[in-house]
Amino acid sequence: MFKRVDRLAIELPIGAHPDPNGASAVQELMGGRFGEMSTLNNYMFQSFNFRGKTKLRAFYDIVASITAEEFGHVELVANTINVMLSGTTSPGDPDSTPLGPTKDLRMSSHFIEAAQSALPYDSMGRPWNGTYVVNSGNLIFDLLHNFFLECGARTHKMRVYEMTDHPTARAMTGYLLVRGGVHILAYAKALEIATGVDVTKMFPIPRLDNSAFDATRKWEAQGEHRRLYTFSDDDYQHIAQIWKGTHPTDGGKLEAFKGLPGYSGPIIDFPDLPEEFAPGISREDLFQIAERLKRSAGL
Ligand code: MN
Ligand code: MN
Repeated sequence: MFKRVDRLAIELPIGAHPDPNGASAVQELMGGRFGEMSTLNNYMFQSFNFRGKTKLRAFYDIVASITAEEFGHVELVANTINVMLSGTTSPGDPDSTPLGPTKDLRMSSHFIEAAQSALPYDSMGRPWNGTYVVNSGNLIFDLLHNFFLECGARTHKMRVYEMTDHPTARAMTGYLLVRGGVHILAYAKALEIATGVDVTKMFPIPRLDNSAFDATRKWEAQGEHRRLYTFSDDDYQHIAQIWKGTHPTDGGKLEAFKGLPGYSGPIIDFPDLPEEFAPGISREDLFQIAERLKRSAGL
């Protein structure tokens, strides 16, 4: 089961200006083959379907705990897209064409299918799909795939980082480059223990060094590139059998943490968009809803 927390993985800065085409690029990190929906669903199905949970406990715990972290990454990318789309249009009479500025943007579906918010699509509007999930049932094959998936995810984040300097996108990609690096290393270490092969000899594919990316600095200074969390109150603590030793880049000690990270950010409340008829609840509707809620509470 999952326990949900009404907070974002980090506090997202709100940029002064929208960047709707940048938001389309960020969609790749949501619904692309190597996006957060893919990492979430790959590890989710692998953890549900895992054979030998008792005898292979440490491997199961790694996949299961990273699943929970990826859920928060999907949420963070969705909120980033929503912030980047905010302010693209202004309210107006339908006859004044208030959505006019959107018709030449890259992803019209943000403005027609959705009310200026994230979609489960990639940067070209192709829908995420379940064939992006690889769960062969063979432990080494699945771990190798996860290592490859995280390396692809890192490459795409590095490219999106170079496509938009919108502060919300930079903060999100900076943080996820650091956390994705942790996952690459976690699967590399799991493969080492499962096979005896030194997977770190395959680096760089791409390199885990984040020194070229300013937005990663804050997180590395806090040691986030060396921490793996259980994302659970008491379970999945066998991650510590795999997540130990030193970090290949800076030699710092790897630390397995029980629970969630000690930081988080507020959930963003996005305002009404009358030009999108969203959420489409008027002041009068709200009054009637309040009346019905009172009545059903017996007041
Ligand atoms: Mn992720
Ligand atoms: Mn990951």
